Amino acid sequence: MHEEVKEVLFTADRIQARIRELGGAISRDLSGRDPVILALLKGGVVLTADLIRTMDCPVHLDFAWVSSYGGGTVSSGRVELKVFPKEDLSGRTVLVVDDILDTGRTLRAVVDELRETLKASDVRTCVLLDKEVPRAVDVEADYVGFRVGDQFVVGYGLDLDGHYRNLPYIGVLHGPGAGGAGGRPELG
Ligand code: 5GP
Ligand code: MG
Repeated sequence: MHEEVKEVLFTADRIQARIRELGGAISRDLSGRDPVILALLKGGVVLTADLIRTMDCPVHLDFAWVSSYGGGTVSSGRVELKVFPKEDLSGRTVLVVDDILDTGRTLRAVVDELRETLKASDVRTCVLLDKEVPRAVDVEADYVGFRVGDQFVVGYGLDLDGHYRNLPYIGVLHGPGAGGAGGRPELG
């Protein structure tokens, strides 16, 4: 375990087992639809890479980069679509994959853009973690790995100051960074 990690909430084995379950369910639900898997940079990339390898239906892969954090470990309330797919998604089934659902602003903005501007016909959402907090906007994920309490977590795509994304597990940190005073996540 990394020395700055105080507690492991979800081990690598548990995460991989849960992803196999999600991948099976998603494959059954989306087979025959030629879905576009839209990974949200940067945090959703780790889950996406593992998830698509558990799926046994054909998929396309694309990426979007959206920022919701403007400063501190508290969400800024502003969502900026920095990079969005250029391909024609009209009439397509799109599965948006992100690391964590917190205030919901990120997923809400992405889903709205896909439906309203890009005219995707069926937009689904998948997150590894669903934070048990009141949402700032009305959105829920269709596929959820685990529910987690209201605490700042790192690992498996989730960062603090750009660090810890490569941890194979999800944990909470020792010290001030864990609560917000010492650092903050990067965009995405
Ligand atoms: P939302 O827009 O739902 O508030 O925030 C989603 C984004 O905020 C996630 O994609 C993630 O980048 C970041 N985020 C939310 N909660 C946490 C957390 O506990 N730890 C880390 N590292 N990032 C988080
Ligand atoms: Mg992030």
